[in-house]
Amino acid sequence: MLQLKDIYKQYQAGDQTVPALRGVSLSFRKSEFVCVLGPSGCGKTTLLNIIGGLDQYSSGDLIINGRSTKDYSDGDWDVYRNRSIGFVFQSYNLIPHQTVLANVELALTLSGVGKAERRRRAAAALEQVGLGDQLYKRPNQLSGGQMQRVAIARALVNDPEILLADEPTGALDSETSVQIMDLLRQVALDRLVIMVTHNSDLAEEYATRIVRLLDGRISGDSAPYEETQRAERGKKLRKKPMSQGTALSLSARNLMTKKGRTFLTAFAGSIGIIGIALILSLSNGIQSYIDQVQAETLTSYPITIEAERVDMSSMVTTLMGVRNSDAEESEPRDPDRVYSSAVMYELLNSMVNAEVQTNNLSAFKTFLDGGGGGIRDFALIRYVYDFPFRFYAEDTEGSILRSDVSSLMQNAMSSLYGGDYTSYFDSMGSRYSRMNVWTELLPGPDGMPLSPQLKSQYELLTGRWPESEDELILFIDRNNQISDLVLYTLGLISTSEMEENLHAIMNGEDASSAAALRSWSYDELCLSSFQMILPVECFQPDGQGGYTDLSRTDTGLRYLFSEKEIGLPLRIVGVARPGPDSNSSMASGSIGYLSSLTDYAIQKTAQSELVLAQQADPETDVIQDLPFAPENAQDPGREELVEAARAYTSTLSEEEKADLYLQIMSQPPQEYLDTAVAAQLSQTDRATLEAMILTQYTGEMGMDPERVAAYIASMDDETLFSAIGDAMAEGIREQYAAMAASELSVLTPAQMAAALDASYDGTVSLAPFSEEQLLWMRDHVLPASYSSSSYDAVLDALGYLDPASPSTIQLYVETFEDKDRLSDAISAYNRSVEKEDEIRYTDLVALLMRSITTIINAISYVLIAFVAISLVVSSIMIGIITYISVLERTKEIGILRAIGASKKDVARVFNAETLIVGLAAGLIGIAMTLLLCIPLNMLVHHLTDIQSLSAKLPPVAALILVLISMFLTFIAGLIPSRLASKKDPVTALRTE
Ligand code: ADP
Ligand code: MG
Repeated sequence: MLQLKDIYKQYQAGDQTVPALRGVSLSFRKSEFVCVLGPSGCGKTTLLNIIGGLDQYSSGDLIINGRSTKDYSDGDWDVYRNRSIGFVFQSYNLIPHQTVLANVELALTLSGVGKAERRRRAAAALEQVGLGDQLYKRPNQLSGGQMQRVAIARALVNDPEILLADEPTGALDSETSVQIMDLLRQVALDRLVIMVTHNSDLAEEYATRIVRLLDGRISGDSAPYEETQRAERGKKLRKKPMSQGTALSLSARNLMTKKGRTFLTAFAGSIGIIGIALILSLSNGIQSYIDQVQAETLTSYPITIEAERVDMSSMVTTLMGVRNSDAEESEPRDPDRVYSSAVMYELLNSMVNAEVQTNNLSAFKTFLDGGGGGIRDFALIRYVYDFPFRFYAEDTEGSILRSDVSSLMQNAMSSLYGGDYTSYFDSMGSRYSRMNVWTELLPGPDGMPLSPQLKSQYELLTGRWPESEDELILFIDRNNQISDLVLYTLGLISTSEMEENLHAIMNGEDASSAAALRSWSYDELCLSSFQMILPVECFQPDGQGGYTDLSRTDTGLRYLFSEKEIGLPLRIVGVARPGPDSNSSMASGSIGYLSSLTDYAIQKTAQSELVLAQQADPETDVIQDLPFAPENAQDPGREELVEAARAYTSTLSEEEKADLYLQIMSQPPQEYLDTAVAAQLSQTDRATLEAMILTQYTGEMGMDPERVAAYIASMDDETLFSAIGDAMAEGIREQYAAMAASELSVLTPAQMAAALDASYDGTVSLAPFSEEQLLWMRDHVLPASYSSSSYDAVLDALGYLDPASPSTIQLYVETFEDKDRLSDAISAYNRSVEKEDEIRYTDLVALLMRSITTIINAISYVLIAFVAISLVVSSIMIGIITYISVLERTKEIGILRAIGASKKDVARVFNAETLIVGLAAGLIGIAMTLLLCIPLNMLVHHLTDIQSLSAKLPPVAALILVLISMFLTFIAGLIPSRLASKKDPVTALRTE
């Protein structure tokens, strides 16, 4: 069954060839106990290893069951070793970290026998060698003889045809040797046992055949045998590869025997993972903080496109020094000298040239409504209309007040300094609207009444958020305060109280006493109610065909306020405060209303009778009930003027006519005035004038003479003379009027009336009215024939707005990436339209954020670099660790190979080990990171005071890191495990 044909074996030692076997030919019977005897170094072990398929012969042939092994593949040899051969070594070669039972089971495991079967057969084999009660001991807890018996049990468990034993008694005392020999003799009853020994006594006593070996040649054979069997076709054998589970449990058990060391290596491997995980946690924390700030900032500062705007960007860039840094860099500069830079000029230039630009928002709105080139997908679009809202409240004293800051300031100014400031505040209106307490709340996407972003930034203290147009929300600040302006607006502080407070401040009293210390409950605040009265509703018929603005008088206001049909009652339904974590609050005012209120007001105004009437008749001012002045009105000729004057005077009584005549005649002609003033001025010099002014100011007005003198001295001639000229003209006018009065006093009223009538055409004795006089009559006396307003101004006054052209378009995005996309989309739009329809806007956030973005990017790059270094360090580390493990387990590799493990199986065992180490390293890394994050966050919170900034490892990242750790250790272990699988089993076995 086993035949060696002229086997030669040489070893290569350095550049020397060492012959170990020189032409050995031997055949063995199916069952006999062969002893190979010979001195040390004669080639016994070599022979055995070649028979067992552990080592390959150099020439000759080994025939197994009639089949030549010349064309045996690695796999064939593996199967042969596993199924047909059992090895017993002098040094036992048990795997120290496995139990006795597991050592025996290993051979079965490799041949793919099921678990229960494995256990049964291993236990039976151990029973057979007399170790049935030692199954769960470790090899190092056994005596030498017992270990050798375990080795025999392992060799027999697969029921091999051949048992090879290399000096099995070499390390044993003679008594134990005898026991082992007895065992082997029994084994040899039904199989071939080839035993190598140099103990000829034992050989003589037990062997059925003794083969003597000398210097690699057979020198004697006690029972030679000639193979007669015909070569049968050996069927190809297949061995199942080692299962992943076996590989894992082998490695796991190996690792378990050195827990401390495994933990340390896994810990060392985990340092890289900890580094990465910490950086990830931190950057995740920073990133989510940045995202939050970014989203909040961008929602607080949307890209705002105004119908009219002043370009501030060039000024801002000049101030920030952006321009100068790259200007004129080409010119050579002396490093020891300082050069001027034209910032002043740039600044003035940008201010002077900052012209008002207009944006065609209705065209842009049409574009946005029709898809907007994708803008709709990532930006929230808000159309803002400048509706002239009028909110009225009733204060604690029952008077009606208009709830806005400019009205309040108007009242306060009049009460403090006297006078009417209406026109001043009307012209400053836009500036004070910045301080407006009323604010339209940002609507949400897809028709939601309120933006969820806005809601998330506030903490609702009582009630709820408004849901319909007649509901309001009141915002208070972080300290639960509301400004007195708002309290006044709410009617909680009465007008008179406010005035008292202001007077108190004027008189230097402590102002904080009265209003500031008062407080209200949330529910009291919610009791405030308002009337939103449309401008168009304020105009009520005046009984003469026109309309009058009732809101200008207190009685009218009270009527408007209490009339059921007029206005929309609004009520506060909730009170909110900025949340502790919000960085900027989106609403700028204190009382918030929904955009649906604006829609309601615009629509109601557009449908009002007055607006419809005005639109139906664009020629007539419906408020004043007068036609608009024709656009290209020429200066009226003399005839027209006379005609209009005649028509008017014909309705007057005699008395009135006389009065009018006197007035007309009292007006000095401009020419007369000019010459008189010039004549008077030419007669005076500067000194006289100064003296005149001095006496006037010090005498009549009681001012300090020195200051007046100094002031006069500072005036140049021209200014002084023109100032005096105006004063003189006034005097001359008075003199002229007095002269006219005395001249005309001789006439009776009837005569004067007649003179008036006659003056249109003139008579022989009476000059006709001059054109100057006729124009004066038209401007000062005659009733208006044209409206003083224009079509657009009337619609404005009525509060009419065209929904197609908003005053501002705001585009809200949440990330800087989206903002860039938005800028690109607007640029694309600009390229597609005519020059005058291009959209221009100032992107303040971009100007301010540019540097922050750079910092964020820099941080990200540094972090990425750290991560990369950590990864490299970590994988090198694990590669080294695996390599050490390979060196350490060389012997085990030899054993595994001897009992039939293929190269792949060995590689698999080591890969399994690296996977386990990688898993452990990953898990330790994650655990350590989670622990480290706790003090890290405490430190961050302590240093920055930002509660929402905290390092947190995302679970997905944790999972990925564990996988990466396993993957990296696997990759790093591939080379060592390949080295292991390539190890020559014979060399491996020789290793101690
Ligand atoms: P024995 O087992 O009879 O003592 P061996 O079979 O171990 O002898 O060795 C036979 C000869 O081959 C010896 O001279 C030994 O030095 C040599 N030899 C064995 N293995 C190697 C090897 N791997 N490399 C070089 N020489 C070897
Ligand atoms: Mg030997």
